[in-house]
Amino acid sequence: MALTLFNTLSRRVEAFEPLDPKGKKIGFYGCGPTVYNYAHIGNLRAYLCHDILVRTLRALDYEVTHVMNITDVGHLSGDNDSGEDKMVKSAEERGKSVLEVAQFYTDAFFNDIDRMNIVRPDIVCKATEHIGDMIALIKRIEANGFTYQAGGNLYFDISRFPAYGDLARLRMDALKAGARTTVDTNKRNAGDFVLWFTKSKFENQALVWDSPWGRGYPGWHIECSAMSITYLGEQFDIHSGGVDHVPVHHTNEIAQSEAATGKHPWVKYWIHNEFLIMDKEKMSKSGGAFLTLQSLVDRGFDPLDYRYLLLGGHYRSQLQFSFTALEGARNARRSLLEKVRALEGEKPEADEAAKKRVAAFYRAMNDDLATPRALAELWGTLRDNSLAPASALYAALEMDAVLGLKLAAAGAETGVPDHEIETLIACRADAKKNRDFAKADSIRENLKARGIILEDGKNGTIWKKAL
Ligand code: AMP
Ligand code: ZN
Repeated sequence: MALTLFNTLSRRVEAFEPLDPKGKKIGFYGCGPTVYNYAHIGNLRAYLCHDILVRTLRALDYEVTHVMNITDVGHLSGDNDSGEDKMVKSAEERGKSVLEVAQFYTDAFFNDIDRMNIVRPDIVCKATEHIGDMIALIKRIEANGFTYQAGGNLYFDISRFPAYGDLARLRMDALKAGARTTVDTNKRNAGDFVLWFTKSKFENQALVWDSPWGRGYPGWHIECSAMSITYLGEQFDIHSGGVDHVPVHHTNEIAQSEAATGKHPWVKYWIHNEFLIMDKEKMSKSGGAFLTLQSLVDRGFDPLDYRYLLLGGHYRSQLQFSFTALEGARNARRSLLEKVRALEGEKPEADEAAKKRVAAFYRAMNDDLATPRALAELWGTLRDNSLAPASALYAALEMDAVLGLKLAAAGAETGVPDHEIETLIACRADAKKNRDFAKADSIRENLKARGIILEDGKNGTIWKKAL
């Protein structure tokens, strides 16, 4: 079975056919982070979804160019031009410059995705380094008659673009009349959005550039249109992001891009991941305390435990986060590694039985990236006693090219097998109970020397790898 993907444009699972006449090259643009704070674990679900898609395409022998933007200017707290500028607000709160804040959180973001074994995009582009591309694109939109100036800003007039709202199945009459709450009285239609801000509400805007419409800065949506067209051309294969981007950000991206180029469709397949769900305050990047990858690591989890948890849900279903579920994922991943370790020393062998297993795995992945079923195929392979160890190892490693659980490094993961660590933790607890603190300390120090850190908490001892 060839790859099929759910396309938000048609609301159907479609056979994937690249635009490239030779059927090989694929352009993929995934919306990247706004770098005013750490990514929360919900954001990381979006990047894992990109990763799974790219790994699957590559495993199917497509040549993928994966482009991702870094938003370091222009993103207001409301996607529809309302609220404060996220970067400026963060810089003020931290007493830093916008560019310092951007660099710090960009580095933190890559540290997170590296730890989750998410393959880095081929091209990472910063909005502030592509202002010229944005201005050039806005000029084309203006020349084609889709804009108006009001109150110092340049707006996109959605009533000039009849297909506006097709992606999100929005009704034009409602968008014109003001179904969206807007406080911007310059807008002719409630759904109109800013392409270029000059006399904005932000007197303190840190970064401004000269443009035909005055000194100012771009709206958020134009950056993705401009950068994706720069790197992937005026039409490309796949664009992706979280479901929250369907009604505003991606809807606006389509309107701008097609208004500029006159080519339809701008993007052939739109892929959207559903949300990771948990308490609101734990998932709001603009709020105070939210869960980051590091906060999971601080509680003793491996970033790959979180990767495993995410793989257990289909990307188009909401996934409820809980620490109990994460513990389940950790246990499952550890026993998976144990099973692969047991095959250590075998030379992977692609016999018929192994190939059959791998084919079943790809049937699941080809079915709109059904990772829960794909994981089940991996488990089935490792539990199947009729498979020769060498072919089980071959099949598991093939599957891991997509799952990215680092199974090949299972033996070397910590240098200390998990069961040995657990046993030593139990011995240390006994030693402490018997007030043999010297023994307890020596167990802790021995493990530390082997790269394992023990931490005592209310619920017992947890361990993690030294960084
Ligand atoms: P942002 O950095 O806020 O622009 O968001 C980065 C990505 O995370 C976007 O693709 C969002 O759609 C996505 N996203 C935001 N919140 C969640 C969530 N709770 N679960 C999954 N994806 C999310
Ligand atoms: Zn975007």
